[in-house]
Amino acid sequence: MLHNLMEDVVLSVLDELLPQHPEVCSCDQCRIDIMAAALNRLPARYVVTSKGEVYSKVNVLLSQFRVDVISAIANGMMVVAKNPRHRSPKPLVEEPVYVE
Ligand SMILES: [Zn+2]
Repeated sequence: MLHNLMEDVVLSVLDELLPQHPEVCSCDQCRIDIMAAALNRLPARYVVTSKGEVYSKVNVLLSQFRVDVISAIANGMMVVAKNPRHRSPKPLVEEPVYVE
């Protein structure tokens, strides 16, 4: 499997940061938008690996890039909070969109 370890690192830091920022929407859409924005600012770290190995490698990468990852996510949260892809600031329920 070809895998970008940075995705795991961003996801794990995002899960830490979001609860500390109740002003930032944490719906699936915004989470993935924040992740994309953060990942675009971070170097990709591709590995070819089996599942068991990923966890320890993520921790190594996390300790190396923690500060960069936090600032990239903070930037992503700012962008998404300013301009969420949905209209309401915090949708409680995703409304289905019907296109005719
Ligand atoms: Zn949202």
